[in-house]
Amino acid sequence: MTLHQTLPRVSRITATALFAAAFTALTACAQSPNTSAAQPERGGYSPSITEADLRKRLFIFADDSMQGRSAGSAGHDKALAYIVGELTRLGITPRGEDGYFQRVPIVRGNSGDTLWSRNVIAVIQGSDPMLRAEYVAIGAHSDHVGFARRAVDHDSLRAFNQAAWAASGRDANARITPAMRAAVVVNVDSLRALRPARLDSINNGADDDGSGSMALLEIAERFATAAVKPRRSILLVWHTAEELGLNGSEWFNDHPTVNRDQIVAQINIDMIGRGTAADVKEGGEDYLTVLGPKRLSSQYDQWVRDVNARQSRPFALDYQFDADGHPQQFYCRSDHYHYARYGIPIAFFFTSIHEDYHQITDEPQYIAYPKYTRITQYLFDLASFVAQQPERPVVDQPKPDPNGRCRQ
Ligand SMILES: [Zn+2]
Repeated sequence: MTLHQTLPRVSRITATALFAAAFTALTACAQSPNTSAAQPERGGYSPSITEADLRKRLFIFADDSMQGRSAGSAGHDKALAYIVGELTRLGITPRGEDGYFQRVPIVRGNSGDTLWSRNVIAVIQGSDPMLRAEYVAIGAHSDHVGFARRAVDHDSLRAFNQAAWAASGRDANARITPAMRAAVVVNVDSLRALRPARLDSINNGADDDGSGSMALLEIAERFATAAVKPRRSILLVWHTAEELGLNGSEWFNDHPTVNRDQIVAQINIDMIGRGTAADVKEGGEDYLTVLGPKRLSSQYDQWVRDVNARQSRPFALDYQFDADGHPQQFYCRSDHYHYARYGIPIAFFFTSIHEDYHQITDEPQYIAYPKYTRITQYLFDLASFVAQQPERPVVDQPKPDPNGRCRQ
């Protein structure tokens, strides 16, 4: 999920500055990111969608050694190598321009310099000789926002952000004011009684969007190992540079590696690892937000609800952020938008923002794994259902102007 252009929420700059001042002694020995940690693993995963697999994958993908996965960085490339290694091991068909990769140029605002990064694209071939020319696309974003130049104490920053977030009522629609932030008091002595300060400079992006990227990999594995494939093909896209402005999804849709008109629907997974009662005021084990399906297709929206209703434990789907003109603008802040721009029905799944959103504290130990696993299973079921239908979902709403601006 990209930052809002005009309504930043928890301010990293403010919080970091505050802690930099409070922990001068700590920051004096700030370190560059640790590059010595986990090597990508191969094998050892279950063909099913399991909590153990998701946990194992996310701890690798959001490891400090990936250096916050800033698009085009060495850490991001290492994270892509993990995904591609798994796709290769599973024998999944590449559908980029150079194997699994599609190069994406990103022109930087001020300098005009071009940064190069890569989408990862693969296909699970459908079983129906006619319908396999059509695709159900599933996407997530592989990049995040990199690392900070100065390290701060992880536990102190998290305690501060938790207190500030609680003061806002854990409400995505509320704003944390400077006065609320100024009123937050963190008892550092009690934190230090638990353990020594732990310097941290890496935005691990476990929820954003490690959760979506690893759900997509687990879904890919489930399709790849199934004895019978669905009728339509499944298109898997790990977009790059979502955090820089949805560049990877924009490029893919402007330069598709499959016939774009044959993409019958898209599922976007961006941040599905949180949304507990501790994270958001509406939160809980069944809390899941949805944006977008009814904007183009009432039928696709109905399928999203029907497949959910048939889960052994259905989610309480929350459409509040899909409202026209919603101030958080979430509809315009993730990759599905560039599919919808071309008239492709999309469904965006999201467990809302939280105190660790775009913070160095977005780490895999804070993910709600049982719920994350249930959401991943549901999205696999939804993709399977759409891929199996005799007809593609009917587009019964006006298509947007592909060259227009996104309207929430
Ligand atoms: Zn984000």
